[in-house]
Amino acid sequence: MSNDERMNEIARLRETILKEYPRLSENSHFKFKCHPGVSCFNDCCGDVNIFLTPYDIIRLKNSLGISSAEFLEKYTLSPFDKNLKYPVVLLKMNDDEKKSCPFVSAEGCRVYNDRPWSCRMYPLGLAAPGETSQELDNEFYFLLKESVCRGFDEDHEQTVSEWLADQGIQDYNRMGEYFKDLTLHEYFRGEHILPPEKIEMFFTACYNIDTFRDKIFNSSFFEKFEIDDETKKKIKEDDVELMIFAFQWLRFALFNEPTMKIKSDILSARQEELKAKGKLEK
Ligand code: SF4
Ligand code: SF4
Repeated sequence: MSNDERMNEIARLRETILKEYPRLSENSHFKFKCHPGVSCFNDCCGDVNIFLTPYDIIRLKNSLGISSAEFLEKYTLSPFDKNLKYPVVLLKMNDDEKKSCPFVSAEGCRVYNDRPWSCRMYPLGLAAPGETSQELDNEFYFLLKESVCRGFDEDHEQTVSEWLADQGIQDYNRMGEYFKDLTLHEYFRGEHILPPEKIEMFFTACYNIDTFRDKIFNSSFFEKFEIDDETKKKIKEDDVELMIFAFQWLRFALFNEPTMKIKSDILSARQEELKAKGKLEK
């Protein structure tokens, strides 16, 4: 399937979900259980579109003990689509008959403790009718019933919130909120399209966290911005702290938000430079 076809298929599914799928709340009940004894065990771990969030990538690359750059190279696709406002990353399925997930094994998921958000959520999905804050308040859960899945025949009922707690989704959702502040920013609601150098910046800061760390620690970054020693230490050692910092940096760099403070001497020099070029009023 080409990237265009893949993105069209995803867009069509979203349309159908918004129009036709019953909407569930956290208190809604549903019958489902997945365990190694089901006849369909592992059948769902192939030929699926799994979007990876920055937090998914951190969990997965650390689980595998590789760098973010190696993870992206080996295990992901970054489809280009003219309708995309920012880059997205998909888990790349193997090139075999079943288009198996690279992490599936006879015993189940090899990265189970660090499996992506959407694998934890299944059979639930989460959708919002649009991207304004009002529309986001109307976010709803829905059941995605894959025909292959026998988990719905199991005699086990739970509420949506029980399922979410059982799947350890809280950390993922908390981290997802930071990412949403970026991706659902009003900048992207207009006609704005990021220029290529900013797409690159977005991609590296969000998805290629080890390279982002190398870039900021091996450049004049800290000479330009006021960053205290404690923050510097945290982002050097902790991927999640660095990810949150990277989102803050992107909000500054992409949307001109005051989420970073430029050092006063750098700011004065910049203002002098602009004055000299006649771009600032004297
Ligand atoms: S990451 Fe694990 S749970 Fe998700 S599709 Fe792959 S094998 Fe299945
Ligand atoms: S198809 Fe459904 S029941 Fe079967 S392994 Fe996948 S999630 Fe579990």
